[in-house]
Amino acid sequence: MSRWISFIFSLLIILQSHAQKKQVCFTIDDMPLVTYGITDTVYQKRMMDKIISALKSSGIPAMGFVNEFKLFNNNQLIPFQVQLLKSWLAAGLDLGNHTYSHPDYNTLSSANFFKEIIKGEQVTRKLMTEHNKKLAYFRHPFLHVGDTKAKSDSLNQFLTAHHYVAAPVTFDNADYLFAVAYKRAQDKKDDKLIKQIGDDYISYMEQKVLYFEKQSQALFARQIKQILLLHANALNADYLPALASMFQKNNYEFISLPQALQDEVYQTPITVYGKWGISWIDRWALSLGKKGDFFKDEPQTPEYIGR
Ligand SMILES: [Zn+2]
Repeated sequence: MSRWISFIFSLLIILQSHAQKKQVCFTIDDMPLVTYGITDTVYQKRMMDKIISALKSSGIPAMGFVNEFKLFNNNQLIPFQVQLLKSWLAAGLDLGNHTYSHPDYNTLSSANFFKEIIKGEQVTRKLMTEHNKKLAYFRHPFLHVGDTKAKSDSLNQFLTAHHYVAAPVTFDNADYLFAVAYKRAQDKKDDKLIKQIGDDYISYMEQKVLYFEKQSQALFARQIKQILLLHANALNADYLPALASMFQKNNYEFISLPQALQDEVYQTPITVYGKWGISWIDRWALSLGKKGDFFKDEPQTPEYIGR
């Protein structure tokens, strides 16, 4: 009898801890890679392998968003760059469209922006089909969705007509600023600085997570399924394992983008527009009439990293 009771207790504990887990989806932009001009293919392949193996070993079903201009040189396809994406798909990871050349929708007409989306899907769509997947997700460059209601509506209509689902970001952050500093420190072979930037990056990201959890609670009285934005750079290649541990330590499990988008929070109307590239949590907050003080605790990058 007591054995059964203890069995049922352990089962309850397992079920409860599972139910209490918060959820996050990892998305990785500017694929195949952000290399800051390093064209060495050995370096690039090692970076991609590190990113993939970190995602796989932590069980993270990530989606990468591709800028196809990186696959071409004078209109010629670069087989090596395509191979990087193939290795990503072969690992069971997903791809989406991030436009061809990462233009800014704030400064481009809708018609020209739509051309960028179509131009940006040619190779990726084929690769996805080869891996029995369907290209279905779109990520806005700079998180610029249209600075007026008319422009935003017209993009949404285009995406729907072309069977795309827009991929919002809730855990917005400045990983790219840390990545630039990290690359500079690597160039100088400054090991102490390299390590400091890495450590500061992880604690900055944890502060961001805690901040957006607080905002989620304040707006929706619960922890929403979050979507994290990262970039495919050397910093993340080296620090993805530490980033994954930070999320696990904070009681997160990793989910895919389709799983995250099942959360009804993503149906929350956005009624306020601007030139900003901000978290969807901030957009919802502004649309719900929140002002100034509501956003006051947002963590900033350390001074030496830049803003
Ligand atoms: Zn981007």
